[in-house]
Amino acid sequence: MPVNIAIDGPAGAGKSTIAKAVSKQLGFIYVDTGALYRAVAYHMLSKGIAADDRKGVPEELEKLDSGYFSLRFIDGTQHVFCGDEDVSGKIRTPEVSMGASTVSAIPEVRKFLFELQRRIASENNIIMDGRDIGTVVLPNADLKIYLTASPEERANRRFKELSEKQGCPTYEQVLADIKQRDYNDMHRDISPLKRADDAVLADTSDVDLEGAIKMVLELVKDKCGIT
Ligand code: C5P
Repeated sequence: MPVNIAIDGPAGAGKSTIAKAVSKQLGFIYVDTGALYRAVAYHMLSKGIAADDRKGVPEELEKLDSGYFSLRFIDGTQHVFCGDEDVSGKIRTPEVSMGASTVSAIPEVRKFLFELQRRIASENNIIMDGRDIGTVVLPNADLKIYLTASPEERANRRFKELSEKQGCPTYEQVLADIKQRDYNDMHRDISPLKRADDAVLADTSDVDLEGAIKMVLELVKDKCGIT
């Protein structure tokens, strides 16, 4: 049986950076499920369909075959595709981030992406990160971690990342976006972001990246017996 590790938590908690580093060390595949929701948002935006259009989004999904959004692992790195188009580089804008948060509250979107996530986990040793991995997608994961940090610290980290790019928003805008996304993710009716009862809580507000990676590796060692 493949080993499945679930990491959930709010935007900017460091899930992807930590999960990537730990996966590399363990020789596991890192699966970033947020990229799938971003790909759906990107697709809808490019078709002129609003992310909160609860009729238009499901109608558009019905036109697509089940494998339209896909993850491919090239040299150990995840790439996300809409059909044949590699959109990995196009889904990291603030517009797509907010679109993903909105579109992910639509039940048909979650249903569309569910099987794909389950299949990848059933076939590989993985660390999968997202919002509902420990609660819904992989309720029997070998290890569940709920990774969090204060909104201010998360905004700080995101702002530093974005400030290297053109057209960077202000810190206040980044913080407002983070708080809005937290609210959306935690209050939606379907699969809201929450800590699974059996998830280990890891707060990285006062821990640097090295420390957080070490913390997760220790948990993997303790719970899964893997070093
Ligand atoms: O993790 P990332 O910030 O890339 O995710 C983008 C958005 O996708 C999140 O704000 C969340 O609304 C949604 N998402 C989700 N369930 C997941 C992963 C992401 O609803 N498992």
